[in-house]
Amino acid sequence: MELWERKFTLKMALQVPGHSWSLTQEDNLNPRSLPYGWYQFQQKKCFARFQCSSCPNRWPSAQVLVTFHMHLDARERRGQVKMRPFGQKCKRCGGGKFEKPKFSEKNVERILDNVVLTIQEKLYWQPVANRHLLEPLVEDYVEGPHDTARCEACALGICYLRDPAPKSQPSAPPYRFAATASRAVASPSGPQAQRVVDTRDGMEVVNCVVVIVIVLLMLAALYFRK
Ligand SMILES: [Zn+2]
Ligand SMILES: [Zn+2]
Repeated sequence: MELWERKFTLKMALQVPGHSWSLTQEDNLNPRSLPYGWYQFQQKKCFARFQCSSCPNRWPSAQVLVTFHMHLDARERRGQVKMRPFGQKCKRCGGGKFEKPKFSEKNVERILDNVVLTIQEKLYWQPVANRHLLEPLVEDYVEGPHDTARCEACALGICYLRDPAPKSQPSAPPYRFAATASRAVASPSGPQAQRVVDTRDGMEVVNCVVVIVIVLLMLAALYFRK
């Protein structure tokens, strides 16, 4: 946490001299309840490493969500940022605790650059020349799809990788398909989006094969009955 604070205050001092900014980590920051006058920024697809506190298991993930709430008190020349990185549970020992993600210095740098850019734009109304948010760096091989059962953001129902649950119809397939497809189109470069499309195509192929096998079995049954 010290690294985040140190780098953030340094970056803000360069961008907005004369204003003092602070950054704190809040474990119960809620992305769904933003106080009046605050702005929310969600950094998706962060790469981080996890270490289980109950067993020696370590794992990387490229699907970590970090939420930032930011507020500027212009009269006092003071700003405040609260952040919450969402954790993951260990797969190996089934430990019940959500472990906190650990970010590399490079990724802390990138994520904070995005936070600073957002502050300049949304709280200071500064025209930003290169308004391009950086993608966090993926620093290791990450396997498998998103493990929703072990993701803290999923458990709270706020994960960007979870389809929004339809309210009236609990399991309406057209709605879910539409949601996945639109997300895949919205961010074609994302590895997750790519995977969503791949799995759907895969399911169609499997369905086709099942139908062909059933038809062949029926034909064979008819043939041998004669
Ligand atoms: Zn463990
Ligand atoms: Zn999740």
